[in-house]
Amino acid sequence: MLFGILREEDHRVSVTPELAKKFISEGHEVYFEKGAGSSAYFEDSLYNEIGAVEKSREEIISSSNVLITLAPLSKEEVAKLAENTFLFSSFQPFQDASICETFATKGISAFSFDMIPRSSIAQSMDILSSMASISGYKAVLKATDYLPRYMPMLSTAAGTVPPSKVLIMGAGVAGLQAIATAKRLGAQVEAFDTRAASKEEVQSLGAKFVEVEGASDDTNAGGYAVEQSEEYKKKQAELIALKIEKADVVITTAQLRGRPAPKLITEEAVKTMKPGSVIVDLASSTGGNCVLTEDEKVVKKHGVTIIGSSNLAAEISEQASVLFSKNVQNYLKLMLTKEGLNFNFNDEIILQSCIVYKGEVIYGNEAKQKA
Ligand code: NAD
Repeated sequence: MLFGILREEDHRVSVTPELAKKFISEGHEVYFEKGAGSSAYFEDSLYNEIGAVEKSREEIISSSNVLITLAPLSKEEVAKLAENTFLFSSFQPFQDASICETFATKGISAFSFDMIPRSSIAQSMDILSSMASISGYKAVLKATDYLPRYMPMLSTAAGTVPPSKVLIMGAGVAGLQAIATAKRLGAQVEAFDTRAASKEEVQSLGAKFVEVEGASDDTNAGGYAVEQSEEYKKKQAELIALKIEKADVVITTAQLRGRPAPKLITEEAVKTMKPGSVIVDLASSTGGNCVLTEDEKVVKKHGVTIIGSSNLAAEISEQASVLFSKNVQNYLKLMLTKEGLNFNFNDEIILQSCIVYKGEVIYGNEAKQKA
């Protein structure tokens, strides 16, 4: 099979030379676009050395059998794909399912990394987790960059510096890594989440769990959080107001799959924060957890720096590419043979992540997904 690696508007690359080498050793061919991995320090020479061939973007798109990308291709580029192409990316069909029809019309197959179940068996393929973990780590470092204060407590000859107080909203994968990172830097950390399961995880990292009673938690939601009642939101807002005025850094990660992010920080709450404090909003691409967040921007409001970024993993480009590629490699083990791609739709991971197969829409097809 012919694998294509494209240069993306991202500092990461989807297939590292190590993974490309694996494809080639199994008898496949690899084309790469000039500079595909250079922002992650995987220079073209590394791809050349293992036998991959540099081609133009147009040729890669029109001739590859398999394209693995970080971000989905544009509609214009999808139109240029050959029939029977296999596309692998994060298509977020739960945000907009119309993308499936586009693929179906072209007769191609599409597999969405963000549909891989969040189960123990699929952990080694879980791109959402590896990228969220990097984002959580980087969010803390980003905050320290803007914070005019120390994170740890320090006893100096000139006096004692108190530790910074860090508040984490949403203790999923990104939130837990943010807690761990802030703790390592010596901050005092508090966190809250609506999922009951997160309490133990927060406490095991040495942070304080802030509990708001009455959270709705649906164990059938695949581990994802669900929309909360108005009563809960009110109680949560009151508690946030109490905690936020003392916080030096707030990192927000709260997401509702397929829906806008819950608004957890009001403008009034920001006004109560100490000047110089920092909010890092990792939910900015889905509307943000803070009402003042602007996606992909750093803004200063009421003396508080607000960083809106949902793609901080791309800033740790080398390691993020390595982990992304490893996840891809583990996922492809389910289907890639020397002869080509073979799909066993009895495998829950394949069934859930395949959104279109040879022109047939699988996503949302209950009968197919339960087959
Ligand atoms: P996510 O990015 O969808 O959301 C981030 C966090 O925000 C979640 O913990 C969510 O509960 C929380 N949240 C949502 N609304 C909130 C609100 N109003 N207030 C406070 N917090 C709110 O989550 P994620 O990190 O992708 O994790 C999703 C789920 O998958 C979790 O249950 C996680 O433990 C689970 N998971 C399981 C595995 C595995 O078993 N292999 C791997 C990774 C993740």
